Amino acid sequence: MPSPFDMALETYNVPPSDDRVTIVCLYCEKAQEVSRKALSVTCRFCNKSLKLEEIRFKEYQARRSIETCGVVTVEKKGHVVTDKIICGGLIVRGKLKVTGDIHSRGPVLVGPEAELRGSITAPSLAVGAGAILEGQYEIGPKPHASEMP
Ligand SMILES: [Zn+2]
Repeated sequence: MPSPFDMALETYNVPPSDDRVTIVCLYCEKAQEVSRKALSVTCRFCNKSLKLEEIRFKEYQARRSIETCGVVTVEKKGHVVTDKIICGGLIVRGKLKVTGDIHSRGPVLVGPEAELRGSITAPSLAVGAGAILEGQYEIGPKPHASEMP
């Protein structure tokens, strides 16, 4: 269902073409159009910088935080340790340890034999047989789901 905000976008912007995509800011949750080719943009509402790229981990990596509008993937041989993740979606086939929270705007997929430690907030969660999960889960659409694209 389009929100009043989306309708305003349609009124005031040129019609969307193939090289534009609508993203939702990870921080202020406002929708906006960006170039499909852009790897990062500055939110035009809260001025925070947003990464749009997909991030794929294939080996051990420790990071302070992982923040992207794209999908974060931890491959089978990946082992990621981080304080927090804010992402457009999450796929875990390897090991992921998050000391803080995981906020995913899209579905979280946990493969069989994956290990995931951390608290997850996501619209949906799918877990393969044999996966190890440890943490708290808040799964389901947010109350203001009508603002989503
Ligand atoms: Zn923003």
